[in-house]
Amino acid sequence: MWVIDIKLCLNESQNGPAAPELANKVEKLKELIVYASTRESFAPAQSIPTCDQEPESGPCNGHLNVHMISDDEIYWVCALCGDEGVVYGWKDLFWNIKNDDLGGEMH
Ligand SMILES: [Zn+2]
Repeated sequence: MWVIDIKLCLNESQNGPAAPELANKVEKLKELIVYASTRESFAPAQSIPTCDQEPESGPCNGHLNVHMISDDEIYWVCALCGDEGVVYGWKDLFWNIKNDDLGGEMH
């Protein structure tokens, strides 16, 4: 199971990947964070994130079951291939839709 601190994957401004090879991973984690935090808020629902695993048989693209397991941890599991993980460290990022303390202020 993946356990990822998103902040270790981000650049200094915490709005993009720390390195080009992390771009896809960061984009996927961002999707999970926006999706999970949106569900906890009154923002419009997002489409269900899909799996980015690529077994030998080809891309999985299974729907992910996403659960917020604490106020700073999101757990996901793929309904198709069972890939699962936890991402944390995103609470202070502006991708956290639920976080209204930031008030649109950019750092
Ligand atoms: Zn999958």
